Amino acid sequence: MPDVDASIDPDQPKRVLAVYAHPDDPEVSCAGTLARWADEGAEVHLVICARGDKGATADGSDPAGLVERRADEADAAAQVLGLAGHANLGYPDGEVENTAELRAELVERIRSLRPDVVVSCDPTAVFFGSRYVNHHDHRSVGFAVLDACAPAAASPLYFPASGPPHQVGTIYLSGTLEPDTWEDIVMTVERKVEALCCHRSQVGDESDLVGEVVRRRAASAGADAGLAYAEAYRVMRFRF
Ligand SMILES: [Zn+2]
Repeated sequence: MPDVDASIDPDQPKRVLAVYAHPDDPEVSCAGTLARWADEGAEVHLVICARGDKGATADGSDPAGLVERRADEADAAAQVLGLAGHANLGYPDGEVENTAELRAELVERIRSLRPDVVVSCDPTAVFFGSRYVNHHDHRSVGFAVLDACAPAAASPLYFPASGPPHQVGTIYLSGTLEPDTWEDIVMTVERKVEALCCHRSQVGDESDLVGEVVRRRAASAGADAGLAYAEAYRVMRFRF
């Protein structure tokens, strides 16, 4: 059991940029936190890097139709969470790489939005137990976000055409094997369930089952910090 007083984050961000690989990743990872911050007055933006064209398990699925469907699902989920804006960069699923092109796109958004908090996935998490290898796109996006924040967005000679430099204050990394900060989602866990259920192409129509899984995972994360429901993060702070 960690030191609870030190591990529950007291910060309330003003402007947040979450960056994830696939359209349903934020709902799985950090939706309770994003909804709570939005409720508390933060301006919360979301960028998804991949268009979701390979998120199917049945042979013969139509990738273009899936992309359209998933864009509608992302719109609905963003409304549930109270996001100020969301966008998709349109990379093909499975082909997101930590390239200068992707970092330039992220730096441009960081410099124009000027978030104090950025949220993404921990790219160093590869093996979750013996049954899940973290997706290539998740790892690529996590590293691209870290590189875009530190040092690129804050350094004027990196991507000089992408606006004035901006130092991100804090990065929250979800899907981590080394959590050190727990966000209370007691008030928003049902919105997390509702938002995840918007991604029907991925989770189907079993909303009761989705709710059970989300609540069980949130309760498990919360137990580490003395909270009924929580999302856990590894946090990097760059405030000087
Ligand atoms: Zn994903």
